[in-house]
Amino acid sequence: MKCRVCGKPASLSLRAYNTALCADDFIAFLEKRVLQTIRRYKLINTGERPLVAVSGGKDSLALWTILNRLGFAADGMYIDLGIAEYSQTSYLKARAMADELNRRLFRFSIPKVFGKEVAELSRITRRPPCSLCGTVKRYAMNRVCVTEGYSVLLTGHNLDDEASALLGNILYWKEEYLWKKDVVLEGQGSSLAKKAKPFFLCSEREVAAYALLKGIDYVYEECPYAVGARTLVYKNVLNQIEEMSPATKIMFLKGYLKRLRSEPKREQATSCIACGYPTYTEKCNFCSLMDRVGGDQRFAVDTYDPAETRMEPGETRPDNHA
Ligand code: SF4
Ligand SMILES: [Zn+2]
Ligand SMILES: [Zn+2]
Repeated sequence: MKCRVCGKPASLSLRAYNTALCADDFIAFLEKRVLQTIRRYKLINTGERPLVAVSGGKDSLALWTILNRLGFAADGMYIDLGIAEYSQTSYLKARAMADELNRRLFRFSIPKVFGKEVAELSRITRRPPCSLCGTVKRYAMNRVCVTEGYSVLLTGHNLDDEASALLGNILYWKEEYLWKKDVVLEGQGSSLAKKAKPFFLCSEREVAAYALLKGIDYVYEECPYAVGARTLVYKNVLNQIEEMSPATKIMFLKGYLKRLRSEPKREQATSCIACGYPTYTEKCNFCSLMDRVGGDQRFAVDTYDPAETRMEPGETRPDNHA
């Protein structure tokens, strides 16, 4: 099999695009695809300051790398869940990437703020670890983004993550979540940051291949709580369908985005009486959790800064594509 661009032996076959590419042309292909998504859906507008949610896994580290290679000076944000070795290793990978990219890395630590790790909080509140983790992560990332002066929070959710979540929402008709999985979600005043997913149309396999070819050093282990997650079953089912009928996943998501834009706007959230974060109840889930388990209201965040001189987020290089 030969590379469609240069004719050298191909490293990767992309059945969804009915093509095959060598390593260099695949890297260029994926970076171009991310740039097209950013432009087409206006994920990062000129002058906006981007912050990437970094877990230490392949998706977030690949995204952080690509954004900086494309000229978007993006800093990173890491959430420490307090899962002993896993969290420590993940943080070190994220910090090594901060050094490599010469970018700032913020760290919000659940054990530091709550005095307990996710498993303990889950036991006290009788909520599944992932549900609890989701509440804290969403809140902390948003709060760091707005208080540190960033305009848009970018996450490494890929095509497979989004397609499997969408399938789950349809299977169980979770209408309250169904129309909230957009590639970009605009912010709300000074309390809610804009959020965007530049890998929305890039598959997990493509992102993994990019990370491998670029020699990105990421944490291979999954979070221990991910084992048995229902989304893994949906991903497997979708992969089987994709195997028989290439491009099904991308068509599924593109069709969704088209329909999403014709949906009427949903009910607007109000503001949490304690912190101002958008909520549909009097107090947001995070403040309710603080009330229930106690925690350090100062919301301390560490900043790791590998350098003094570099571009500020939102500044552009002469070759910036934004
Ligand atoms: S799998 Fe781990 S990181 Fe993901 S939501 Fe669950 S606890 Fe959080
Ligand atoms: Zn080639
Ligand atoms: Zn609140």
